[in-house]
Amino acid sequence: MDHTVSYKCPNCDAGLTFDADKQKFCCEFCLSEFTKAELDATDSAKRAEEQAEKDAAFTGEMREYYCPNCGAEVAVDASTAADYCYYCHNPIVLSAKVSGLMKPDKIVPFKFGKDEAKETFLRFAKKKFFTPKGYFAPEQADKIQGVYYPFWVTDADADAAIEATGKTIRSWSDGRYAYTETSRYEIHRRGNFHFEDIVSSALSSEKKEMLEGILPYPADSHVDFSMPYLLGFYAKKRDIDREALTGEVRERMGGYAEQLFRDTAGGYKDFTVHARDLNVHRAAWEYTLMPLWILTYERKGKIYTYAMNGYTGKVYGELPLSLPKLFAFLGGLAAILTGLFGLIGGLFW
Ligand SMILES: [Zn+2]
Ligand SMILES: [Zn+2]
Repeated sequence: MDHTVSYKCPNCDAGLTFDADKQKFCCEFCLSEFTKAELDATDSAKRAEEQAEKDAAFTGEMREYYCPNCGAEVAVDASTAADYCYYCHNPIVLSAKVSGLMKPDKIVPFKFGKDEAKETFLRFAKKKFFTPKGYFAPEQADKIQGVYYPFWVTDADADAAIEATGKTIRSWSDGRYAYTETSRYEIHRRGNFHFEDIVSSALSSEKKEMLEGILPYPADSHVDFSMPYLLGFYAKKRDIDREALTGEVRERMGGYAEQLFRDTAGGYKDFTVHARDLNVHRAAWEYTLMPLWILTYERKGKIYTYAMNGYTGKVYGELPLSLPKLFAFLGGLAAILTGLFGLIGGLFW
């Protein structure tokens, strides 16, 4: 089997890069450094090899499809046939090449089935006044598709510190004079943190608003991956590897830690952080598939996306507006306003 084996950091499983100046393998995420001998003493290369084998086996169990119309790519398990594109509703075709699917570590199984997903959509759509009729027609709702989206979920142990300044102001008066005392402080805070379930999308092109609209998935919904969960659903392939997220996730952890420190410094005015430090001791990255019900609707060349969290039922929807309906409403509104102004005019003039 042809696959590349690369060293992973024994502390946090991120990919290591070789620093020629130091003659060491360095981890960008937890900032550890290892000599070749140190790495050989761990089972880093062996684990990477095993992962590559699991990935290859998983890839063998999946079929990849692509949409010649919009370019969307999905995978389904080999026993399920995929017929149309979940995004643009055109027929999709089997990809000639399998381009390396990676076996997920965890999955959040669907909790809502298709019928429930459809009903939820119809309840959502019918309440909206200005949508075109076709938007919530039964044959449109029937196109709702369950799709697993790829995410990276990071847990980490770290210690963090900040250096800040702040001041307190005390005022009093003795009857003749008013006094104000300003004290300036150098503030240092240090603490140990455990970060749980930092979720990052593993798709570069996905709409941020949609994902923010349907997240989160509760921590206890993540289970070990197993093939049968995929039966009958589409899965999107990730195109962001964890190495590409190390900087961003470090930054987010630093931000969370700083916020917690700030919360302990509520008594200070002009609290300003001058430096912050983050030291990651251990991190675990889990490639996780999470379930979404997706329904798109095309109107005048624009695609509107409705999405529902397949576990919690949380909904995100972009609404197509029917202009005739809207104008009818605005017309009614203008008539009422004119009526009101007429009334007010009648009272005051
Ligand atoms: Zn590391
Ligand atoms: Zn398509």
